[in-house]
Amino acid sequence: MKEALERLDALMNRLVEADQTGAGIEPLHVASELGQIRQLLAESPAVIPAKGGQKHFRCEACGTVVHGTDAPSRCPTCGGTKFFAADIEQPFVESGAG
Ligand SMILES: [Zn+2]
Repeated sequence: MKEALERLDALMNRLVEADQTGAGIEPLHVASELGQIRQLLAESPAVIPAKGGQKHFRCEACGTVVHGTDAPSRCPTCGGTKFFAADIEQPFVESGAG
């Protein structure tokens, strides 16, 4: 999972760089790299679905966890609309502050 995210970040950086410098990038190289990242993600055990194939979605605002196959349109507690998949490794690194 971590390796896949790192490679994805690196690829995105290369794409931005290619755009900014006008150097361009080989589409086939991008496709190949994406294919390998996809394989890594497919093999990743990081996602642990709840029973019944449901996932967990945590409200970004209040932390309420909602079970379902897809993120709800609104948080039942606070009405928030931003969720992250609680089954997946927290993608945002907590800052040292606080
Ligand atoms: Zn909420």
